[in-house]
Amino acid sequence: MIKLSRDNKPAVLINNENSWTTSLIEAVTVFGGYSKIPAEQKEKLLIHYRHQEIKSVLFKSSLEKCAFCETKPGESGNIEVEHFAPKSIYPALAFNWENFLPACRKCNDRKGGHDTVSYPIINPYDSDPEDIFHYTDIKIAVNNIHKEIGERTISVCGLNSVRLMRPRADILVSLHSFSESLEEAIKDYEDAETDIKKQNKKRKIREALEIMESMTKPSETFSGFCKDYLKRCAPYHEAKIIVGEQIA
Ligand SMILES: [Zn+2]
Repeated sequence: MIKLSRDNKPAVLINNENSWTTSLIEAVTVFGGYSKIPAEQKEKLLIHYRHQEIKSVLFKSSLEKCAFCETKPGESGNIEVEHFAPKSIYPALAFNWENFLPACRKCNDRKGGHDTVSYPIINPYDSDPEDIFHYTDIKIAVNNIHKEIGERTISVCGLNSVRLMRPRADILVSLHSFSESLEEAIKDYEDAETDIKKQNKKRKIREALEIMESMTKPSETFSGFCKDYLKRCAPYHEAKIIVGEQIA
């Protein structure tokens, strides 16, 4: 999970939010509850939140990744418009821009009707997940200070399910291997006897750093996981000092 920035509300929502919400609330009243609205009618009332303009602005803000698990469409089913506070409990928020999140089918299904108002979980538009989570091996874990909300988020969204631990394990193998290469490059640099040789070795270090850092780009799958790895990777920090670069 990484911090996301909410884009401006799309025009279609500015223009229609009130009328769409009013129609839905009317149906809730007429039928005596959200769950009692006949399926076909409910679908007609709800279809608007999946408007192409809404999807395109929303999905762009997460760089086409799931806001919770950081997978891309195709890896965990299609990306969907998720209601952070469930529309079944809070129909008045069914067309509320601040209540939308891009989520994969797996996270969306798992979260289901969880009541985030009574039992809050992390919303990556509002909190920085980096303050709340870290990774131990291939599992996401919670920093002590945010224990309750962090652990609930992991459980509600299934962030330590096998479907996520498996690809993290593959990435971890690559990261360990890059880290070892970096360690060797650093040793070669230290052993180099002439300035020219040192410059050559430094270039090798720079190349290795570039590869590792490319995995932390927000557009990459599991970039939060990779970023957390680099935070604790001693050869990475050593290499940054050698090439004279600040850690972003
Ligand atoms: Zn997901």
